[in-house]
Amino acid sequence: MAITISNLSKTYSNGYQALKNISFDIADGDLVCLLGPSGCGKSTTLNIIAGLLDPTSGDIGIDGHSIIHEHPKDRNIGMVFQDYALYPHMTVLENVEFPLRVGDHRKPKAEAERIAHRYMAMTGIEEMADKKPGAMSGGQQQRVAIARALVGDPKVLLLDEPLSNLDARLRLRIREEIRRLVKSTGITTVFVTHDQEEALSISDRIALMNQGVIQQYDVPQQLYLNP
Ligand code: ADP
Ligand code: ADP
Repeated sequence: MAITISNLSKTYSNGYQALKNISFDIADGDLVCLLGPSGCGKSTTLNIIAGLLDPTSGDIGIDGHSIIHEHPKDRNIGMVFQDYALYPHMTVLENVEFPLRVGDHRKPKAEAERIAHRYMAMTGIEEMADKKPGAMSGGQQQRVAIARALVGDPKVLLLDEPLSNLDARLRLRIREEIRRLVKSTGITTVFVTHDQEEALSISDRIALMNQGVIQQYDVPQQLYLNP
């Protein structure tokens, strides 16, 4: 699904303007990185797309349809956070099937489990179905979070610094896994990072942000980056 972000602004209640009229389009199936230093407005943008935060003005369209007034749970967007945000008292299987077991379109237990197992196999955690997140490594927990984000066949996948808590070796590995998963499912993806090398290696296009504006939006090869 294509995403259209039009004239998006956000001023927080303390008067700080975190986003200053940003606009860009994401093509169907593209993996776009929002790249920029801490505090430039990346998470604000992602949270507005997810519906976790209301913009002050502007619009977001998915396949030409405005979602700005849709409730987060009606947007069908998958999200992955830096700190995994798994339910600690639930097993891996229960975490992954959770989105299929709540809401208006909940699936019967057996069907939810069957679908969950498919996504657990895709992310390489099928063997850990009965474990609790606390007994798993960071990389394994992030694979659970990715499976949970994808299990509802979302229109869009949003990842907020998903690799930042992992060691260097795992960062490389899981970013390649994410790229492969995104390309094999064809899901339109927005990936937030402050790491240039990570953005250059994973993206179809990069939105370079600074102080609430987008300075450049281009394919990695065309991006001008300060050394
Ligand atoms: P809103 O504009 O959405 O009402 P609030 O000022 O009520 O925002 O803050 C919402 C949350 O964000 C609070 O938990 C607050 O601690 C946190 N917060 C406030 N200021 C900042 C900041 N400068 N950076 C990050 N988080 C902040
Ligand atoms: P990034 O994800 O690029 O690190 P954020 O989108 O989290 O940036 O934050 C953008 C700016 O808005 C920062 O200066 C941050 O301190 C501020 N900010 C974030 N949340 C709040 C809030 N709830 N209230 C006030 N300011 C906030």
